Amino acid sequence: MKLESPGPALGRRVVRRGREHYYPHVTDAEWHDWRWQFRHRVTSLADLARFLTIPPEEWKAREQVLSDFRMGITPYYLSLIDADDPRDPLLRQVVPLAEENLFRAVGDEDPLGEEKFSPVPGITHRYPDRVLMVLSNNCAIYCRYCTRKRTMYDGATPDVEIDRMVDYIARTPSVRDVVVSGGDPLNFATAKLDAILTKLRAIPHLEIIRIGTRVPVALPQRIDDELCEMLAKHHPLWINVHFNHPNELTPDAARACDKLSRAGVPLNNQAVLLKGVNDDVATIKALCHGLMRMRVRPYYLYQCDPVRGAEHFRTPISKGIEIIEGLRGHTSGLAVPTYVIDAPGGGGKIPVQPDYLLQYDREQGRALLRNFQGKLYEYLEPRANEDVLVPVAPPIPASAQTPPIVLAGSNRKRAEPESNGKAQSANGNGHASSSPGATNGATNGASNGATNGASNGAANGAGNGAMNGAGNGAASSAKNGSAPVVGKSKWVHRGSTKAERAARAKKRTS
Ligand code: SF4
Repeated sequence: MKLESPGPALGRRVVRRGREHYYPHVTDAEWHDWRWQFRHRVTSLADLARFLTIPPEEWKAREQVLSDFRMGITPYYLSLIDADDPRDPLLRQVVPLAEENLFRAVGDEDPLGEEKFSPVPGITHRYPDRVLMVLSNNCAIYCRYCTRKRTMYDGATPDVEIDRMVDYIARTPSVRDVVVSGGDPLNFATAKLDAILTKLRAIPHLEIIRIGTRVPVALPQRIDDELCEMLAKHHPLWINVHFNHPNELTPDAARACDKLSRAGVPLNNQAVLLKGVNDDVATIKALCHGLMRMRVRPYYLYQCDPVRGAEHFRTPISKGIEIIEGLRGHTSGLAVPTYVIDAPGGGGKIPVQPDYLLQYDREQGRALLRNFQGKLYEYLEPRANEDVLVPVAPPIPASAQTPPIVLAGSNRKRAEPESNGKAQSANGNGHASSSPGATNGATNGASNGATNGASNGAANGAGNGAMNGAGNGAASSAKNGSAPVVGKSKWVHRGSTKAERAARAKKRTS
């Protein structure tokens, strides 16, 4: 029996979107012509009001927002937006909203300090071996959270300036990798982009060219055979795309990515974590799975930069950690992006992830690890050549109980101390595992380790943090004979002390 869609009669509303809804009279030839798409971008509020409802009381606020940062929406991208949903995740990315006006003055013009690291206009040279090259101030769509919105009014980058950027790279032998970005480099005419890439390829020390683009997301029609053939001449060439939401993974976008892949271009995705757009595990998981099906590797999940006018998009860091926690172990590792915070002022990308390494004692060669279900495992490192096997050190008295561990990024408790000496390990699926006598070991170890590790680490550097955490955590729990872990290596342990190792080293050199 064929089931009929219940439709509006049963309360399900008809979603108004798609080319048929917004552009019913546009021909196929026009729709698939990227130049037509580019020329017909929605750029003014009056234009936008032809397609989407703008509440009268919001006009002024939205106009103010537009005076700060331009709007551009391709007909294709507009067609993916639900006309009746003011919270549509794609709409929020490109349409100036009144809430953006609330935070007009909050944030930085240049949150990543790109100007500070700019030896010539258009180049950012922050890392030793790679540079960013901003080729244009033009994008197919303008993302309301764009880190580089300050550059979007500079006028087209003159050829002489592009030549100066190429010249800088040619004069700087340490640069082996260039990220060509924008604005969007794929908005250039194919011949012009070819000429720039040819100049870059002529630089002997430049190994890798990467292009950052949102064109496959916003203007997939642009990825045509001519462009792909041209790009294939300049390998090794990589492309970083920028999909943020599963609704952007359309058949057109998939076709564009497939063409690029067939031209030998590896594709990596750089998503931005955006409140009200993709700030939940299910959305990011669906995005990453969809990208994998399109042969696009989920590469980075960026914390939204504190750029002016984008405060309403920013999430707490715990949200990003929670999302990674919900992916790692719950889907293939290839589908898990690295969550990074671009350090304000130009510190570069800093990866942030849930606390899987709870303690690490380098002296004793022990680590206390947590898996994706919240279960604890002890891992012993290999013996160094000069070490000898010795029995585990004798037990020491257990220290006092400490509060249970709380996972960063969530409110779930991992290890609950119990009066009978058992500790519960709640896993990500709501199951629990227990290990006798874990109270002193796991809780003392993890909490002392995490606390000392974090605080000392912040003050003295990561190394100290890890070492102090280990000293208070895993080592003491193993020594007192308790069993804080689910899995444990059969190795007894290497046990030479610092003094013994020093003595052996002295003997060897004498
Ligand atoms: S496509 Fe990239 S450069 Fe252009 S507005 Fe969006 S985030 Fe900024």
